[in-house]
Amino acid sequence: MDNSKHLDYFNTVCSPHSIISDSKLKKSWGDDWTKERKSGPNFVLLPQSTEEVSKILKYCYENNLKVVPNGGRTGMAGGAVACDDEIVISLDKMNKIIEIDTVSLSVCVEAGVITQNVQEQAKKNNLFFPIDLAAKGSCQIGGNIATNAGGLKFVAYGGMREQVIGLEVVLSDGTILDMNSNLRKNNTGYDLKHLFIGSEGTLGIITKARLKLVPKPRHLNVSCVAFEKFDDILSTLQQLHQKNFSLTAFEFFSAKAHKITKAYNQDSIEPFEKSYPFYGIIECDGDTNDSQLEEFLAESFENSHVSDATIASNSQEFANLWALRENISESLSNHGWVHKNDITVSIDKLSLFYQELEEFLTKKNHDFIDVILFGHVADGNIHINYTAKKTVTKEIFLEEVKKIEQETLHLVKKFKGSVSAEHGIGLIKKDILALSRSADEIRLMSEIKKSFDPKGILNPGKIL
Ligand SMILES: Cc1cc2nc3c(=O)[nH]c(=O)nc-3n(C[C@H](O)[C@H](O)[C@H](O)COP(=O)(O)OP(=O)(O)OC[C@H]3O[C@@H](n4cnc5c(N)ncnc54)[C@H](O)[C@@H]3O)c2cc1C
Repeated sequence: MDNSKHLDYFNTVCSPHSIISDSKLKKSWGDDWTKERKSGPNFVLLPQSTEEVSKILKYCYENNLKVVPNGGRTGMAGGAVACDDEIVISLDKMNKIIEIDTVSLSVCVEAGVITQNVQEQAKKNNLFFPIDLAAKGSCQIGGNIATNAGGLKFVAYGGMREQVIGLEVVLSDGTILDMNSNLRKNNTGYDLKHLFIGSEGTLGIITKARLKLVPKPRHLNVSCVAFEKFDDILSTLQQLHQKNFSLTAFEFFSAKAHKITKAYNQDSIEPFEKSYPFYGIIECDGDTNDSQLEEFLAESFENSHVSDATIASNSQEFANLWALRENISESLSNHGWVHKNDITVSIDKLSLFYQELEEFLTKKNHDFIDVILFGHVADGNIHINYTAKKTVTKEIFLEEVKKIEQETLHLVKKFKGSVSAEHGIGLIKKDILALSRSADEIRLMSEIKKSFDPKGILNPGKIL
């Protein structure tokens, strides 16, 4: 591409220091957490306002230039990867929290604001923003919306879709679509904002959002629980629901996940004297000094659903227990190659699904690939992680993984589950979209894509 003419134009649109064309610097953009595809954007634009995004897209549309929106680049599907000389549009500089409304309980933000900053601002106003994920310190609200992020508190509050009240989006031809109202109810025809939630940057660039806030939980009690069997996790979940616990999170991880996390985090605690096949992190809202969770766990220990348990008694212990779960992804990346399946099946079928998965994985026992399980068990969402030490090449690793993953994903299909619960399809899961969506659904998706992006310049090659 002859860049000079385009760069001259973008220099008239973007604020100073908002264009990166230096090959070393631009390496930081146009890639995500997966690192499975070679990337390298042509150049990177860092607009500072919706109007700048609009002018950039209008020009790209007129000149057939392809663009890849970038948020915090923590995505796990290759959605933010620019592998075909595209222009990256990064929202890094659109990072303002515009307004917190403590009457309607909402916050209006620019799309590039870091998720943790929204959580902290909400807290300062005695409110709570419930989207919570281990990547919260780097991911952005725009990225969370574009991927319809789920996360740790989904069981109580739902995912990103449930938090969005309004959106401002710039379309591929530069049109600014202002749907960023603060209306809680609005049944006037199709609610177009929902098309952009989970669209992974293929239909428009999200520039602003108004999000719901909720009252702050009274007091979060957290415990780490040991289980002998996967079924015990589900029995415990069922009991918690039946006893009306105000569950805010229920995560699980396998012994192998724990071992790897310990190996790469010196400060990681050992919650119990011995090792168990599975661990859970259970978090409930309640009163300070609430003994209800303790009593429940004692009862579960007596009837053998729970093998051991510990409850955090101060904020440090609270953080230590959560770190056991939140450090898993990063530890896996330090350990070696990782390829993730992010699957979900309906919770009533999870036990049967797990049984078949385990049988299959035992049969396929591989000499250099390890399978590490963890995830948001209360949502039926298991992250199946294939990992290997870097003593084999990435190519050999991925080739071997493909063979195992095919059968795992067909098992998901058999259980009418989804091959992507929360990470999206992006670039690296395109081949498996048809396992969870019918031909008619995919046809309609293609038609929607064509009508929003007739020239195919927005995040080309992603999802479809
Ligand atoms: C340690 C770790 C833990 C994680 N845990 C979870 C979890 O619990 N739940 C979960 O759902 N995900 C999780 N993720 C995945 C990831 O954090 C989420 O997908 C997150 O929402 C991505 O946000 P981002 O800003 O990093 O987006 P990016 O990775 O930059 O982009 C993701 C997609 O969104 C598009 N995009 C980004 N910004 C915009 C915009 N403004 N307008 C239009 N399109 C845009 C990109 O083009 C791309 O297709 C985790 C990741 C890590 C590294």
